[in-house]
Amino acid sequence: MHCPFCSATDTKVIDSRLVADGHQVRRRRSCTVCSERFTTFETAELVLPHIIKQDGTRQPFDEAKLRDGIARAVEKRPVETDAIEEAINKIKSQLRATGEREVPSQLLGNLVMDQLRILDKVAYIRFASVYRAFEDVSQFGEVIANLESTHD
Ligand SMILES: [Zn+2]
Repeated sequence: MHCPFCSATDTKVIDSRLVADGHQVRRRRSCTVCSERFTTFETAELVLPHIIKQDGTRQPFDEAKLRDGIARAVEKRPVETDAIEEAINKIKSQLRATGEREVPSQLLGNLVMDQLRILDKVAYIRFASVYRAFEDVSQFGEVIANLESTHD
C-alpha cells in the first residue's frame, strides 16, 4: 500500500505479529522514501455467498433474517440463546466452506434444518413445515420418519 505520509509506493515491513487471537496480523511498516512508520492490520475477508432464491434472484446473505427465522422456530422451546448463536456460526462457516460466490436457497435451508434438528426436534418440524411448505402429507411424514431414524 501507499505510504500515508508521502504516497510513495514502496514500503517495507519491519515487524509482523498475530493479534486478536490470531485472527489478525499487525504489521509495522516503514516508508523507504520518507522513513515514516505506520501500522496496518490484516484480516481474512470473510465473505458469505449470495443466496439464489427459487425465482432466480440473488440476495446477500442476511444474518438478521436467519436469526429471526431460527428464533421463531425455537419460540417457547427450551433452547438457549448461546446455542442459537452457535448454530448460526456453524451455518455461516459451512456457507463459507462451500467456497462459492452464490448458493441456492435450498442449501441454506438444509443447513438450517441440520442445525435445528440438533437444537430441538419440535423447532425442526416447525421450521421444516414453513420452509418446505409441505406440498402433501407424505412430505411431512418423511420429515417425521427422518426424525425417528436419527433418534438416539
Ligand atoms: Zn513516505
